[in-house]
Amino acid sequence: MSDVIKLLSDAVANQIAAGEVIQRPASVIKELVENAIDAGANNIQVIIKDAGKTSIQVIDNGVGMSETDARLAFERHATSKIRKAEDLFCIKTMGFRGEALASIAAIASVELKTRKADNELGTHICIAGSQISSQKQVSCPEGTNFIIKNLFYNVPARRKFLKSDRVEYRHILNELHRVVLTNPEISFSFISENKQVFKLTTESIRQRIINIFGKSLNQNLIKINTDTSIIKIDGFVAKPERSKKTSSEQFFFVNNRYMYHPYFRKAVEMAYENLIPQGEHPSFFIYFSVNPANIDINIHPTKTEIKFEDEQSIFQIINASVKESLGKFNIMPSLDFEENITRDVHLTSKTSIKPPNIKINPDYNPFEQTEDRKNYKRDKIPSNWDSLYTPSGANETRDDFFLPEENEPIQKNLIEDASMKTEEKNIFFQLKNKYILTSGKSGLILINQKRAHERILFEKFLKLLETRKGVVQKTLFPVIFEPSASERAILLEVMSELNNIGFEIAMLGQEKFEIRGIPGDLTDIDPKKTLEQMIYVLGEISGSAELVLHEKIAMSLAKTAAFKIGKLLHEQEMEDLFYRLMSCANHNHTIEGKKILEIISIDEIEKKLN
Ligand code: ADP
Ligand code: MG
Repeated sequence: MSDVIKLLSDAVANQIAAGEVIQRPASVIKELVENAIDAGANNIQVIIKDAGKTSIQVIDNGVGMSETDARLAFERHATSKIRKAEDLFCIKTMGFRGEALASIAAIASVELKTRKADNELGTHICIAGSQISSQKQVSCPEGTNFIIKNLFYNVPARRKFLKSDRVEYRHILNELHRVVLTNPEISFSFISENKQVFKLTTESIRQRIINIFGKSLNQNLIKINTDTSIIKIDGFVAKPERSKKTSSEQFFFVNNRYMYHPYFRKAVEMAYENLIPQGEHPSFFIYFSVNPANIDINIHPTKTEIKFEDEQSIFQIINASVKESLGKFNIMPSLDFEENITRDVHLTSKTSIKPPNIKINPDYNPFEQTEDRKNYKRDKIPSNWDSLYTPSGANETRDDFFLPEENEPIQKNLIEDASMKTEEKNIFFQLKNKYILTSGKSGLILINQKRAHERILFEKFLKLLETRKGVVQKTLFPVIFEPSASERAILLEVMSELNNIGFEIAMLGQEKFEIRGIPGDLTDIDPKKTLEQMIYVLGEISGSAELVLHEKIAMSLAKTAAFKIGKLLHEQEMEDLFYRLMSCANHNHTIEGKKILEIISIDEIEKKLN
């Protein structure tokens, strides 16, 4: 039999490698901007068209490349940043794999103009599908200018998987946030569709955070600063009232590199326990400095997951350090640290560490002890958050959500069709605060209560969007909403529709919005948090081609306003929910196609019990 194994051509090998490094336009931007930072640039411009799908340009004023380097840069494993395996343990640059440019050149057309300071002329290279089509000398400014066009033009399957422009744009903004937040000494400008999205000049980290996430963050940032022998922690945590329904303002950086670290995130979130409502997340911008030899940044091709040598000890240090900062601002009961434990830790990876010794007054009740505390609670925590997301009091019912409206009769025939009309009395049970059980004509009916509530609200809001008959309920005071750039783009797209269903949102200049009213059906909600969460859900589902805009808006509102899993329901509430569900056009599935109810037939039950 003849031999069958062949070496892949470089172009194919690069295309395969590109799958790991370049998933979307945002990955190209990340790689090019990181290269610009490694090249010592202090001014970087990013210009995109069609969320980067049509073109991405990154211009820097860094050291530039020689003619030979400019060609070599596109070869796989070509890098100026490491030479030998040991270098991997003391990486100081953003890149080091020598894969990015080779990958980009394999799946897009690339034009590069670059010049070093001591060369009079620069180099101009055009390359596509890993083939250089032209190289000539050019007169150009010192530094490097990349234009990447038609991403995935030769890999249609990958191009098809790109999401809508809005989703891809959000990914780009997220990526840019991560780099600009670590390099406040570098000026950045970002232009999308010929419009300036941001222009950041050299500034402090604090100022940069505020410039990106809005001025309202200014009074909410608390400094965090701890220096131990295994890790140094700097940065800011936000006061509890800045908490969000999403984790969009949670950032860890290690040695100036963005890091995704769910375990350390838990350490921060635990420090906020009992200070913020369940389901909300504190904002934080935490910068770690560690000896590069003690971390492994090589475990993930896009390098956002980083492994530490001593994660358990660091967990304790982060948790204590956040508590200390919150304590300093009287947000936590005051903590008394034994200085030499938190400040001077000498450990090896095998050493077990005790949590810092914290003295806490056991009688302390964070919400009731002092007048200050009482005021704090009243002022800072919206009085109504708990009614939406926690079990309601024993005698409260959420009539506004559950009870059929007068003009919305229960479709009795639908219930009969579904063989669900209960024969004897309507007895409802709740299981694990998650499922509703009731008996039907043909067996036992199981309902996922959260999905049922989402379906009911979805149909209700869809109807309101179509009839434009939303009733506005004025807020007591107008609420100012200062969205981030990505939130703003989404809000502008749906604002007029939201105003049709009962929101009253107005623009105040370019960056601020004022919420003056909310739909009458949404009593007891925090207008700003609801809007934020809706925008988040809209961003998540905006790529879905099956849904029209009205459905997306109704779905985002339903998902935001539906009660959370774990809500205790009283029998009357369960019954109301059941009948409201039965009056829905589709009571079997959520809009995403997930099952809302299931019937276990008498036959099945008999079989099981035989
Ligand atoms: P890596 O960054 O991992 O080294 P890349 O493929 O991203 O790999 O880049 C390859 C090389 O090209 C870099 O090591 C660097 O020498 C050079 N290079 C890339 N971009 C720039 C730039 N903007 N300015 C100067 N040199 C650059
Ligand atoms: Mg690189």
